[in-house]
Amino acid sequence: MHRRLIIQKFGGSSVANVERIQNVAKRITSYKKKNCDLVVVVSALGDTTDELIELSQKITTDPSERELDMLLATGEQISVALLAMAIHKLGFEAISFTGAQGGIITDTSHTRARIIQINAQKIKEELQKGRIVIVAGFQGITSNHDITTLGRGGSDLTAVALAKELGADECEIYTDVKGVYTTDPRIEPKAKKLNAITYDEMLEMASLGAQVMQARSIEVAKKFNVPIHVRSSFSPQSGTMIIKEAKRMEDVLISGITINKHETKITICDVPDKPGVAAKIFKKLSDSGISVDMIVQNVSHTRKTDISFTVNKSTSGKAMKVLTQVARKLRTGEVLEDLDIARISIVGVGMKSHPGVAAKMFEILANNKINIKMISTSDISISCIIEKRFTETAVTQLHKSFGLSR
Ligand code: ADP
Ligand code: ASP
Ligand code: MG
Repeated sequence: MHRRLIIQKFGGSSVANVERIQNVAKRITSYKKKNCDLVVVVSALGDTTDELIELSQKITTDPSERELDMLLATGEQISVALLAMAIHKLGFEAISFTGAQGGIITDTSHTRARIIQINAQKIKEELQKGRIVIVAGFQGITSNHDITTLGRGGSDLTAVALAKELGADECEIYTDVKGVYTTDPRIEPKAKKLNAITYDEMLEMASLGAQVMQARSIEVAKKFNVPIHVRSSFSPQSGTMIIKEAKRMEDVLISGITINKHETKITICDVPDKPGVAAKIFKKLSDSGISVDMIVQNVSHTRKTDISFTVNKSTSGKAMKVLTQVARKLRTGEVLEDLDIARISIVGVGMKSHPGVAAKMFEILANNKINIKMISTSDISISCIIEKRFTETAVTQLHKSFGLSR
């Protein structure tokens, strides 16, 4: 007879303290009582990963990425061991694995490694013995035996990749909210929980700042058609299904609104308007490992032009250093840094077939006297950069005017 195999992933807040670890252990064993096979993925306790990063910053602001991975991977090693003990205490068999022991093989790009393959033999053997297998999220190992991590939020990816590799019947992501909402429920109290959302919409929302799922995990889920159930670790209620197609009675224009406060806007003034200049600037940035987004070049009337773009806040200091040198060489004007911005995006597959969505978004912002500093669009999203202090107003007004509120 086929035994159901369930992958369950518990995020940091779900295992933030002893009581919560015990609560998670209870939930896991309740499934075991129903005779399911279980592979459990856990994140580091509470804010451990942030605290470890802070600790490293006290030693150096530019740590070796290999050593940073060694450090960060310890967080998840603590939680798997404690969870195994909590399950033992309830009288069940469980065994914990690091990513390496779980056979998660990655490439060598430390701090953002990609999974190349999973050798799940050891996991399968333990399942055969009837044990609950607990795997450390967020980490893997290179073929050269170096420990790697999979990027922030990477435990989601561990769970989805294991679900695919093991052919799991279900992949459950347990977190501190009841599912995926129309917008961050911690910012907008009127946010509505969605029963279902498509991979494409979730991927767009995750890439644009909805922290609830790691974007890369959704890419993998989409590629291999792994349905994901996002739900609360504090409630028995069902949450949100992330699937290929979400059937809705009527087309909705907008499914969600996202906020990203982790970007900085950089402007290089008076850039000579001739071929090759932009190439030189962005080549220097990419050579320094800095990703840029939302590039805008103004129309030039004077043979000089301003170029603006956004970078992640964590790389903005480095970007400014690189650009100040480039600016001198290319004889441009000043380089300006604007830290006080937020990106507000609306996401929905419905906008493909409905014109006027962008106009409506701009109008809502204008009616609330919110100035738009930059705009970018994709097939299923529109983003505006605004002053950070207007974030909450913008979210509330867009949420209401696009009919998303409860
Ligand atoms: P975990 O530790 O379980 O991985 P995260 O902190 O990574 O949890 O993600 C959950 C958080 O994502 C929620 O607490 C919520 O504030 C935030 N979030 C942002 N956008 C959304 C959204 N659209 N729906 C649900 N949660 C969201
Ligand atoms: N602990 C890691 C992080 O904070 C991975 C995760 O939580 O998914 O990014
Ligand atoms: Mg997370």
